[in-house]
Amino acid sequence: CTPDKKLGIALVGLGSYSTYQLAPALQDTKNCYLAGIVTGTPSKAISWAKKYSLAEHCIYNYENFDTIKDNKDIDIVYVVLPNAMHADFCIRAAKAGKHVICEKPMAMNVAECEQIISACKKANVKLGMGYRLHSEPYTQQVQEFVKKKTYGDVTFVSAEAAYRSTGNPDQWRLNRELSGGGALVNMGVYAIQSAIYGTGENPISVAAQEFSTRPEYFKDTDETITAQLNFPSGAIANITTSHNFSANSMYVAGTNGWFKLQPANNYGPLSGSTSDGKILDFPHESQQKLQMDDFASHILHGSTNLAPGEMGKRDMIIVSAIYESIAKGGKTIRL
Ligand code: NDP
Repeated sequence: CTPDKKLGIALVGLGSYSTYQLAPALQDTKNCYLAGIVTGTPSKAISWAKKYSLAEHCIYNYENFDTIKDNKDIDIVYVVLPNAMHADFCIRAAKAGKHVICEKPMAMNVAECEQIISACKKANVKLGMGYRLHSEPYTQQVQEFVKKKTYGDVTFVSAEAAYRSTGNPDQWRLNRELSGGGALVNMGVYAIQSAIYGTGENPISVAAQEFSTRPEYFKDTDETITAQLNFPSGAIANITTSHNFSANSMYVAGTNGWFKLQPANNYGPLSGSTSDGKILDFPHESQQKLQMDDFASHILHGSTNLAPGEMGKRDMIIVSAIYESIAKGGKTIRL
């Protein structure tokens, strides 16, 4: 594609994230725009086409999706489906020759993550994760503090990502066959990510515990998990995730001080402070807008892919190790 072209994105799965975050963000993006949709709900096809003036040849359902390969107006397929459908649609998108954005968690297990990565490599298309925080200024500031050792060597991170689920007990997020897990795969990935960019390292081992207080509601998926991660430098992290209470923060202790974000992982604006009295203050922009523009810029201009598929796979390896530790009574699992 030509460098000054805006890339066309097709959203796959028009649920709440596509409807309330991604489609509105795509009205403001500089490097990409909403060009098409893939939906299993005919009434959404009609209402979205009208609302966003979509061309008829850019509207697909799950059955005719593969014909997207012949559509020159779609450059990127963004998979925003229940987790069990990520691998299938990411792989089909790659086979259709489209660049791929995959929502978190990347897939149901590590093997599926590998299949997505290799399908994208084989088709020579780019693969990015929907990890919006990597394009977000407070998170980027945290990464810079860590890299520059502004507060010394990091020795400890505490990270929480949780909300209280009270909705329909039959929703796909609480159905293991469609979600692959509970709080850990849904919110826990944010706490894992905070621990990793909070230390600037990948963990070498993990031990975890599970708590269940509403088993009648969480019949099929984990409710609350805590885990401790060890890093090569000796730094440690304690993470908490839950579908039973609300928590949203990260705290990083270094040898010369500390910094924290609270909130740390919602749609923003985030907020942060440091041990030397700084209040972090960045102008608010849609995280989804920044994320999709960054990925389009990676394709158009070769800028860094801030959240590549390998990162999604790494996080799934850690998720699997956390579940393994719980299954083994809290045993430390080497990564
Ligand atoms: P929703 O339940 O709101 O929407 C999912 C959509 O997927 C449905 O509306 C439907 O769209 C389609 N779908 C196809 N098959 C099924 C099925 N069997 N059951 C349910 N839906 C189906 O989910 P979200 O939009 O909240 O989440 C979608 C993905 O995005 C998940 O992977 C989630 O983890 C991720 N996400 C990421 C966020 C982030 O901040 N990065 C935030 C929220 C979600 P249609 O009617 O068009 O076919």
